[in-house]
Amino acid sequence: MVLSPSIGPEREPPPPLAASDAEIDAAVAAADVPPLLTALAHLTGDLALLAEDTRPDQERLVEADAGLAPEEQATARTRAAAALRRYRDGGSQAAPTPDHKALRQMIEYLVGPEAVDDYLPLLAEELALEGSDVRAPGWSAAALAPGRTLRVAVIGAGMSGLAAAHRLRQAGVEVVVLEKNADVGGTWFENTYPGCRVDVPNHLYSYSFAQTGDWPQHFSTQDVLLEYFRRCADDLDLRPLIRFGTEVLGADFDDAAASWTVRTRSAAGEETLRVDAVVSAVGQLNRPSFPDIPGRDRFRGPSFHSARWDHDVDLDGRRVAVIGTGASAAQFVPAIAPLAGHLTVFQRTPPWLIPTPNYHAEVPDALRHLMHHVPDYARWDRLWLFWRTHEGLLPFARVDPDWSPKDRSVSALNDAVRELLTAYLRAELPDDDLFAKVLPAYPPIAKRVVRDNGIWARTLTRDDVELVTTSIERITETGVRTADGIDHDVDVIIYGTGFAASRFLTPMRVRGRAGRDLHDTWAGDARAHLGITVPGFPNLFLLYGPNTNIVINGSIIYFSECEVHYVVEAMRLLLEGGHRAIEVREDVYEAYGEMVDAGNRAMAWGASSVPSWYKNERGRVSQNWPFSLHEYWRRTRAPDPDEHVFH
Ligand code: NAP
Repeated sequence: MVLSPSIGPEREPPPPLAASDAEIDAAVAAADVPPLLTALAHLTGDLALLAEDTRPDQERLVEADAGLAPEEQATARTRAAAALRRYRDGGSQAAPTPDHKALRQMIEYLVGPEAVDDYLPLLAEELALEGSDVRAPGWSAAALAPGRTLRVAVIGAGMSGLAAAHRLRQAGVEVVVLEKNADVGGTWFENTYPGCRVDVPNHLYSYSFAQTGDWPQHFSTQDVLLEYFRRCADDLDLRPLIRFGTEVLGADFDDAAASWTVRTRSAAGEETLRVDAVVSAVGQLNRPSFPDIPGRDRFRGPSFHSARWDHDVDLDGRRVAVIGTGASAAQFVPAIAPLAGHLTVFQRTPPWLIPTPNYHAEVPDALRHLMHHVPDYARWDRLWLFWRTHEGLLPFARVDPDWSPKDRSVSALNDAVRELLTAYLRAELPDDDLFAKVLPAYPPIAKRVVRDNGIWARTLTRDDVELVTTSIERITETGVRTADGIDHDVDVIIYGTGFAASRFLTPMRVRGRAGRDLHDTWAGDARAHLGITVPGFPNLFLLYGPNTNIVINGSIIYFSECEVHYVVEAMRLLLEGGHRAIEVREDVYEAYGEMVDAGNRAMAWGASSVPSWYKNERGRVSQNWPFSLHEYWRRTRAPDPDEHVFH
C-alpha cells in the first residue's frame, strides 16, 4: 500500500481532474451521497449543492442510505456529476478554504440543525481541513518556559504512543518512546493471525492528522494497518525518538525531585531513565489471556494464542481445535477452515453478528480515484462515518428501566436490533440445530458485536467444521474433553480467548508518591480520572486506560487523540505555572468513577450478566466509556487546575 504523500497537516493541492465523463459517473455512483455533495460544495465553493431535497434524514441515520429515497439519490448524483464536470472543465480550480459560515453550513447539512452548534468545534477538528491541523498544540515549551526542558517517556509505539510522541514533540517537549517490540504498530504488529483486519472502517480508524485516500479496502487487513502506522512513524519522523527492543519493567516516582525513574530491559541489559512524566500507551488488548481450563500444559501437540500466532505450525490437513468465538476467532476461523483437515470450534457464548456486506470488499477504483482527485471527499466521508456511527448508535444500547425482561434485550430499540440480527442469523443458518447454537441468549451490544459478510455461516456449515457448545472439561494429552465425556482428539489447539484487558499496565510495577504501588491501589479494579490519571501518581498519564473503550460507537483512535490532547495540555499547565508535577484530586477521581459506573450500569454491557472482557474480576465494567464521544471530547479539552494539586 502506498500512502498519500500528503500525510500530515500540510497537504498538497489535489492533482488536476482528468477523468472522463464515464469515470466521473462511476465515481459518483460509488460514493455516499451526503459526504459527496458536501465535499463538492467544499471543493467548488458552490453551496447550492447542499439543497434541502437531498438532505440526510437524521432520524434514519442507521439505514443504508440515511433515509434518502432512490429518486433523491439519483437527483443528488446527477448534480454531483455535473459539478465535477464543471470543475474539471474549468481547469480543476479548487475554491479557497471555506470561511466559518460556509463550514458551518456544510457540517449542518450532514449533522442537522439541532446538533450543529454543539458539535461544530469537535467536527471541525475531526475534519482537519487543509493546512489546519487544529489539534496541533498552539504553543511551544520554549516560549512558555525558556530554558526548561520537560522530558517525557512514552511506553509503547503503537497507535496511541505514536500519537503522543508526535503531539508532545510538536509542543517542544522532549520525548523518548520505549517499545518492547522491534517495530511500531502495537496490536497491529503483534496480531498476525490469518484473516486479521480492522472492524471499524479504516477511513475512520486513522489519525485525524494523517489521512490518506488510499485505503485498499473499507476494513483493511493487518498488514495494511501495520504499513499505515509504519508510514506515519516515517513521515512524521518519529523513529529517532523510539528505543526499540526496550521493555519497561516499571517506574518509580521520586517525591523529592518530583520526577520518575523508569526501569527498562533491552539487549543491553537493565537500565534506568530519569524523566519528568510518564505516558503509558500499552493498550488494553496487549497481554494474551489463556483460559483457566485444567490440563492445558498436558497437550502433546502444538498450541498457541491468536495474538502470538505460530506461523511455523503447518495447519494443512491437520485436526485443529479453536477455543473461543470472539472477534479474533471470527476472523481467523474462516481463514484457516479451508486449510485444516478438520476444525472443531469450541463456543461458550455466541457473538451477535452485524451484517456488513462490504467487510472484505475492495474500495472500488472509481471511489479511490475520487478520493485522490477530490481529497476532501475522503475527509467528509470520514466525518460522515464518524457522525453516523457514534451518537446515532448509542440509544440502541441504553437500558430502559421499565423494559422487561432484560435478559433478551434492554429496551424497545435494543429489542428491535435483536429482531433484526436474529432474522439475519436465521437467514444465514436455516438448519435448526445450528441456528439454535449460534443464537445469543443475551441482549445485543452487551458484548462486542462481530462483523460478518456471510462468512461465519459459510464456515460453520462446511463438512469439515464442527461447532461444539458443550462446555470444556479439560485439555488432555490428545485434545479437548467436553463435559459430556467426549474426547475431541486434535493435532493443534488455538486459543482465541482474548486478553487480560482489565489488568491495566501489567506486568509493569509502578510506584507513585510515597512508594504507593499502582496495582495495590487498584486491587484488581483499575480506575482513572478520564481513563488518564490516578491520585497518588503525579505526572503519570494513561492512554486507552480504564473506561475508555467503546463498544459500538466510533473509533478508538479518536479517544487516543482526545487523551493525548489532555496530556499535552497538562504539560502546558506545568510549564506555564512553573510546577514540577500535576496530580488529580482523590475526590475528583472518586466522583468521576461513580459517574462512569452509573453510566455503564445503564448500558446493555453493564446491565447484562453475560461474561465479557468489558468487566473485571469484580464484575465492574472497567473497560468501557458509556457516554457520547462528544462528552469525552468536552471533558478532555484540558485538565481543570481546580481539580488538581500541583507539586
Ligand atoms: P474476546 O472477545 O475476549 O473473546 C474470547 C473468546 O474466548 C470468547 O468467545 C470467550 O467466551 C472464549 N473463552 C474465554 N475463556 C474461555 C474458556 N475458559 N472456555 C471457553 N471459551 C472461553 O477476545 P478477542 O476475540 O481476541 O477480542 C477481544 C477484543 O479485541 C474485541 O472485542 C475487539 O475489541 C478487539 N478485536 C478487534 C479486532 C478488529 O478490529 N479487527 C479483531 C479482534 C479483536 P465467552 O464469550 O463466553 O467469554
